[in-house]
This record gives sequence, C-alpha cells and structure tokens, in this order.
Amino acid sequence: MNSNQLSKRLTAVASFVPKGSVTADIGSDHAYLPCYLIHKKIAVSAIAGEVAEGPFQSALKQVEDDGLKQVINVRKGSGLSVLNIGEVDVVTIAGMGGPLISQILEDGKSKLPGVQRLILQPNISAISIRDWLTRNQWKLIAEEILEEDGKVYEILVAEPSERLIELTYADRLLGPFLAKENSAVFQQKWNEEYKQWERILRQLTQAEPSEIIEAKKEELREKMTIVKEALR
Ligand code: SAM
Repeated sequence: MNSNQLSKRLTAVASFVPKGSVTADIGSDHAYLPCYLIHKKIAVSAIAGEVAEGPFQSALKQVEDDGLKQVINVRKGSGLSVLNIGEVDVVTIAGMGGPLISQILEDGKSKLPGVQRLILQPNISAISIRDWLTRNQWKLIAEEILEEDGKVYEILVAEPSERLIELTYADRLLGPFLAKENSAVFQQKWNEEYKQWERILRQLTQAEPSEIIEAKKEELREKMTIVKEALR
C-alpha cells in the first residue's frame, strides 16, 4: 500500500476531512493518511504525529519520497503533545484501540481548543470513545462501519458542542448513527459479539459463584438485551 492507494478503512476516515482543512494525524505510522489528504487536495497542510521511532522514520521517508516536506510536518511525540493550540482544524486518530484513543484525547485536552472536528477510528471498544466524547462536550455528527479483510471497523466523527450531550448506554455501546442505519456489517458485528457473550455467560454460569461473577453476568445480560433489541 502507498499514500495514493489507501486502504478502504483510511479512505473512509479521509472522506470525513473537510476540504481546505489543516489536519493532524496522530499515530500516523507511514503517514499514508496525511499524504493522501494532500495528494487529493483535501487538506492544505498536515502534521503527522508518531510516538515510536520506527514509524516516525517511516513517516519521514514517505513524506520525503512523496515530495511533501513543505506541507506535511512529521513530529515525534506522544499523542496531542506534538501540537500547538490552534494549529489544526481537524484531528484524526486511527487504527488503535478505543481506550488508547480516549487516553490520547484525555491527556491532550489542553490542545483541543480550536479543533473543529475529531475523526476517530477505533479497532475495538468504540464505547470508550463515545464515553469520552459525551463527558467532554463533543457531539457525534456521523459514524460509519465497514469491513475490510475480514475485520470490522468503526469511524466516529465529532464536533465541539455548546452543552453536554447525553447518550444512553445503548447508544454509547452501539453508536446512535450505526444503530439507526442497522447495516449488514453492523448486524454481522453484533451477531458475532452476541454469540461470544453467550459463550462467556455459559462459562460464568459454570464457575464458582461470587459477587464479581454475578456482576459480570449482569453486565453481559444487559449488553445482550440491548444487542438483541437492536438486531430485531
Ligand atoms: N494510523 C495508522 C493507521 O490507521 O493505519 C497507523 C495505525 S498503527 C496500528 C498505530 C500507530 O500509533 C503506531 O505507529 C504507534 O506507534 C502509534 N501510537 C501509539 N500510541 C501513540 C501515541 N500515544 N502517540 C502517538 N502515536 C502513537
């Protein structure tokens, strides 16, 4: 893969970047996404942030090979610490677990004033991002679910909100836009999760009873009820 020929997953992330933006891609690895955004004339300039030396070097090389050093600044550092306040309109964070993305947002909160859109693509546990967004006055404006190479990915797009946004537990678990759309990929994802929870519940039922096990069973039953309802 290269920056002209992006994965379906990252192309979907790119589709939510408004034309003319200055974008920061955090955890950019090869910097494929920022290079694509510039090649396609979607972003006018970009910052690629990377914490690890190997991916940081890959990003530098890709940006150099693509002749984009004037418009993509590759910076080494953790999360949003590589940004100055007010420097970018859009932040993308893709290809990590939901808890890590939420932690990056939490740790980098002070850098978010001025950012007009977050585009987040968790590989797992999107609920932790929806939890963070609702706690921090960001409003979900769109979501997408897609399958690529047998894996299911979710994309969450959020913008700053004047007030705190309440989401039900069901909406935080499933995603309000994704649940409404109820696509075949959404059905497939939650059918698989449901079957896995059924297996876990059976194992827990056979285990020595304890308060922790009862609480876990209760939590699973609640999630299963929500998913069953959504899949009807
Ligand atoms: N964003 C690319 C994508 O979606 O294909 C790369 C995803 S790759 C699996 C995750 C990248 O995030 C790795 O290169 C890793 O070094 C980087 N990363 C992890 N934690 C980070 C952090 N706190 N700050 C910056 N980068 C981070």
